[in-house]
Amino acid sequence: MAHLTSAEAADLLERFRHYLREHRLPVTQQRDLIATAIFTAPDHLTAAAVHQRLARQGKRIGIATVYRTLDLLVESGLIRLHEFGDGFRRYEGAAPQGSHGHLVCGVCGGVEEFTNERLERMLPIIADEHHFRYRTHRVELHGTCRACQQRTLEGL
Ligand SMILES: [Zn+2]
Ligand SMILES: [Zn+2]
Repeated sequence: MAHLTSAEAADLLERFRHYLREHRLPVTQQRDLIATAIFTAPDHLTAAAVHQRLARQGKRIGIATVYRTLDLLVESGLIRLHEFGDGFRRYEGAAPQGSHGHLVCGVCGGVEEFTNERLERMLPIIADEHHFRYRTHRVELHGTCRACQQRTLEGL
């Protein structure tokens, strides 16, 4: 989720360190910084945006290290990878309270999040009807956001 509390971010970081130790990978300050940049981000970040955020904080970390660490974070299940159709890969911390859907605007590229309990309840039922063993899901709606609809109206 794009707005994790600091306690949730701290919990995810602890789980990432645990994951690294379990896989006999070194727990480094650089990995901590990259993970924290994603966990505390207010938005869905690209690898380049993570790199820039850290550079602004005065942390010099190579872009290759950023990519490798993001791959590890995705493998660990602690961050999610999204491709919203603009050719960029974006990342966000995995919310402990469950999943959320995305509304992707094709005009401005903005991404809004939503949660919907009815939808969450429906998906396992649909899976059941198809004798499909449900594990997880991704919901992404593509269209035009409210602001862009208004701009179009005003332009007429
Ligand atoms: Zn999101
Ligand atoms: Zn828009």
